[in-house]
Formats: sequence, structure tokens, C-alpha cells
Amino acid sequence: MPEPRHPGDRAAPRQPHDLVVVGAGPAGMAAAATSLDGGLRVALVDSGPAPGGQFWRHPPDHAHDAVPTEDLHHDLRTYRSLRAALAAHERTGRLTLLLDHHVWTTAAAADGFTVHAVDRGSPPEERAVVLRAPALLVATGAYDRQLPFPGWDLPGVLTAGGLQALLKGGGVVAGRRVVLGGTGPFLLPVAAALAARGAEVVALCEAAAPSAWLRHPAPLLRHPAKWAEAVGYAGALARHRIPFRTRTGIVGAEGEGRVAVVRTASLDADGAPLPGTERRIEADTVGVGWGFVPQLDLLLPLGCDLADAGDGTVAAAVDAGQRTTVPGLYAAGETCGVGGAALALGEGRVAAVSVLTDLRAPGRPGVRPLAAERRSVARHRAFARALAEAHPVPRDWPAWLTDDTTVCRCEEVTAGAVRAARTDGPASDHRQVKQLTRAGMGWCQGRMCGPAVHCLVAAGAEPYAPAERLIATPVTLGALADSGGSPADGTPSQPI
Ligand SMILES: Cc1cc2nc3c(=O)[nH]c(=O)nc-3n(C[C@H](O)[C@H](O)[C@H](O)COP(=O)(O)OP(=O)(O)OC[C@H]3O[C@@H](n4cnc5c(N)ncnc54)[C@H](O)[C@@H]3O)c2cc1C
Repeated sequence: MPEPRHPGDRAAPRQPHDLVVVGAGPAGMAAAATSLDGGLRVALVDSGPAPGGQFWRHPPDHAHDAVPTEDLHHDLRTYRSLRAALAAHERTGRLTLLLDHHVWTTAAAADGFTVHAVDRGSPPEERAVVLRAPALLVATGAYDRQLPFPGWDLPGVLTAGGLQALLKGGGVVAGRRVVLGGTGPFLLPVAAALAARGAEVVALCEAAAPSAWLRHPAPLLRHPAKWAEAVGYAGALARHRIPFRTRTGIVGAEGEGRVAVVRTASLDADGAPLPGTERRIEADTVGVGWGFVPQLDLLLPLGCDLADAGDGTVAAAVDAGQRTTVPGLYAAGETCGVGGAALALGEGRVAAVSVLTDLRAPGRPGVRPLAAERRSVARHRAFARALAEAHPVPRDWPAWLTDDTTVCRCEEVTAGAVRAARTDGPASDHRQVKQLTRAGMGWCQGRMCGPAVHCLVAAGAEPYAPAERLIATPVTLGALADSGGSPADGTPSQPI
């Protein structure tokens, strides 16, 4: 693969965009708006129907009035001001906003980067779109980390993020009697939002002990806003009479054809269920979340270094300006480690200022000084590290698996088969387990089961590093064949 030129190298002919930003969540929106304000021509690409990412997920614009979701959001003022800024730049023609466009791969080229996307805006047709720019910013966020348990493959079991996405993106309340479980503060807005829309949240099971936070007073004290948020959620739980059980895990789900009963148990300090504490709760829906895994699909093939994110995952290694180790390639938001929307916004702005600086474009407006933004990013990062330590994936979670619990749902590989691959294989990481058992070889390519398989074989010694996947989303042969064209302005590669 040829070495990319430094973005400041201006020998190459001018391309229609200076920067491609993949991901229009808080990080990508902030990065695009700041780059545009600084005079760049930007393509902002997202697979979703509206900008906002996970935090500000909205129904598509055409359904906006029919599905009111405003009350489920936080900091809508920032969202609206970013959208207004992007809309203004779109009108000047300097922003190309490509929604419903899924980027399936990226490659380094002689004069920067090539970004291959499929336009899924007019199903069932898919059209290939090829973008080129001297600088690329990947802000593709993160996805829910799942740990299997007996019955987790029953209809009615969802990820906590999935429940929230259904609510925010379509006003859909996925169940009537819901049990939530896992770890981390993200469970709180999900419980509050479900209750606000009329679901009965019959238990919120948090695996960690609240006392874990006492070990990290400094980052907490520096974030009074987080305290205020926590108090707000405590009020919502009290108002809706949602039982909040700490050191408790969901250890099983049962039902004929869909969930009818959820089994919970008190957990010891390492996460093993305590004998005699199991309870059975009638419910039709289960939402489970064990934090998030950075979405690195587009970064891995470009060869940038990764770093231990401190929560059992790896993330893009970036410098203080959000530059990856590949010249011209930047990352922001949860691709650099999970830390919430405020951090993602700050990182997006910092990354944009680096792009503006590195492109050194003569005659462009001055670059804003960064010291305050960087200090804020550092504070939010410290908070995210404390959060990860207070809400770890419990070491002994595999204790609630039975040998016949399915771990890889695509290929129907059980916990017993994965354990056998470890002891008899002997496999020492998820890649070897895949070769021996097919776990991670199916439709999702290990995105769902990868972290769990990793825990089962590597026992948490190293963080989970996903395998490189050259194709980030399934694409039709037609779109693949169409991708060889040359347009670089966001139009289909075969003009229509
Ligand atoms: C399902 C889910 C729900 C969440 N809900 C909340 C919530 O309600 N409240 C909260 O505080 N935090 C929530 N979070 C955490 C949240 O992700 C972050 O705090 C915040 O949104 C991170 O911002 P970001 O810009 O880094 O990434 P995101 O907001 O995740 O944005 C990334 C964007 O990249 C796009 N993308 C990814 N891959 C591609 C690709 N290959 N091609 C094109 N586009 C791509 C996605 O469509 C998405 O719009 C949620 C996380 C998840 C996974």
C-alpha cells in the first residue's frame, strides 16, 4: 500500500474535498463544523438517515414531527446549533452531507485517502460512491458490548443501546415489563426513557458496587455536571418506582418462543453469582449493556496504532491533536475510547483544528487556539477512565454460562465448544477460536461475540482487539463492481 502524502503536500491536483469525515455523531458533527468554519471543503458521511449519531439519534427528518422524541435528549441546544452551522455550509456548497451512506472500506492513496461507500437512500437499490481527500477523519463511535447468558438469544432480549435507539430513532417502546442489566451509567437514561414512554421497568440490575466510585473522588469532584445528571436520574428512578439493585446480574432468561422470566442473582466482588440469591422476575423484555466497544473497522486496514482503552477494549492511538499514527488520518469520539458525548464533541473540535493546521492552507481564516478545549478533553478522559474502573466487566461473569449457552449466535457456537477450543485446541485468542470453532465467522464477523470469546479464552489478561475486516458492511456485487470508478465528489461512481 503506498505511503499517504502528508496532507500539507500540495503537489497533487486539487481534490473536491479537503477532508472526509466518516460518522455524523457528536464528534463528526463538531469536527465538520469546525473544519468548515476554518475554510475547508468537507464531505460528511453517515450510514444513518439523520445526523446526530447515537447520542442525538433522531427519526429521519421526514418523520420528525410524527415521532416526537425531543424530551428524550440532552443538550439539544448544541445539536441544533451544529445542524444549523452544517446547513449553512451546505448552502454555500462547501459541505457535502451524505446520509444513508455506509462506508464499507477506506484505503490510503498517493494523494491522501479513498473512501468507498454505498448509498442506501433508495432501497433496494445500492449505489457505489467513491470519495477522495488529502485528510480523513474517522468518527464512527462505538457499539454495545454484549456478554452472553443462558437465554440471551430469545426474542425479547435486546442490548440497552438497541432499546434506546428504537426509542430515539422511531419512538418505539420495545416492551411492557422490562428488566435492565449490565454495568455503567448508560443504563440510567435507558431506564428513565423507557419509563417516560410508559414501560414498566421492573428492575435495573447494576453489577458494580456504588462504593467503587469512592476510589476515584478527584475526577468526580471536577465534574459537578455529572453529579447533577446522576441526581436527575435518581429522581426519575424514584418517580417511576424503578428498583435499582447493585451487585446484581442478569444470569438467565426463560420462555417459550420469547422471554417470559428473567433470572437475576446477587454477585460476589468478582461477578460470580452468590448461591441462594437467585430471583425470578416476570418480564417480556430484557435490555443488557456492558459498556461499549470502539468501532475500528475503517481504521484497522489503514494500519494506525491502537492503544489499551482501559476498559477491556482497544481504541485508536492519537496524539493530543487527535492525529493517529498514519499521516493525514485523524480519529475523534468513541473510536478513541468510550467517554460520552461531551468528550466526543471536544475531540471532534480538536481534530478539526489539527486538520486545519496540518493542511496549512494559505489565506484561510486563522485557527482557534486550543488550550482550553484540550484541557476539557483531558478532564473528560480522566472521568472516562474512572468510570471504566468503577464499572468493569466482572472477571467471573463466565460462571453464569452453561456449556450449552450459545456464545456466537451467527454460527451457533456454544460456550462448551469455546472452552474446549481453549483447553484442547489449545486456542489462546479469539482468532484461534474462530479457526477451531467458526465463532466469529458469520454475518456479524465477531462484532457481537468477539469480546466475550476473548474473555473466555484470554481471561481478561489483554484488552480485546478486533480482527481486521476489509469490508465493514455487506455490499452487493453490483456496488463492488461499481466502485472502480473515479469521481471524487460524492456522486455515484457511475454517473446516473
Ligand atoms: C446504540 C447506542 C446508543 C447510545 N445511546 C446513548 C444515549 O442515549 N445517551 C448517551 O449519553 N450515550 C449514548 N450512547 C453512547 C454514545 O455513543 C456516545 O456518548 C456518543 O454518541 C459518542 O459520539 P461519537 O460521535 O463518538 O459516536 P456516535 O454518536 O456513535 O456516532 C458515530 C456515527 O458514525 C456512523 N458510522 C459508524 N460506522 C459507519 C460507517 N462505516 N459508515 C458510515 N457511518 C458510520 C454511525 O451511524 C453514527 O452516526 C449510545 C451508544 C450506542 C452504541
